[in-house]
Amino acid sequence: MSDIVRCTSCDGFGWFEDEFSGIVADCDWCDGVGYVYRDTAGVDRHIPKNDLKKPEISDKLEALEAERMQEMGFSGTAKKPWQQDIRKGTQGGINPYDSE
Ligand SMILES: [Zn+2]
Repeated sequence: MSDIVRCTSCDGFGWFEDEFSGIVADCDWCDGVGYVYRDTAGVDRHIPKNDLKKPEISDKLEALEAERMQEMGFSGTAKKPWQQDIRKGTQGGINPYDSE
């Protein structure tokens, strides 16, 4: 069975944003999925859309995506509630250790 690896072209994003025009386009390499199959010969292939519905594939992709988010610092558990911008101004967004 082929491995699933992060798309080397878009680094798992699945799309590109043109920094000059701001136009967003799907990545051709992975067909917008962000991940590709890598066979034993080291050749990368699209993951067919039908395969995305298979539980063993979607579970694997979800795990890879969680890993990627953590690498980028988007872990929801590593940050305290008051360190999350989205919670500013809410009860959870108040730092209990802040003396002000
Ligand atoms: Zn890609």
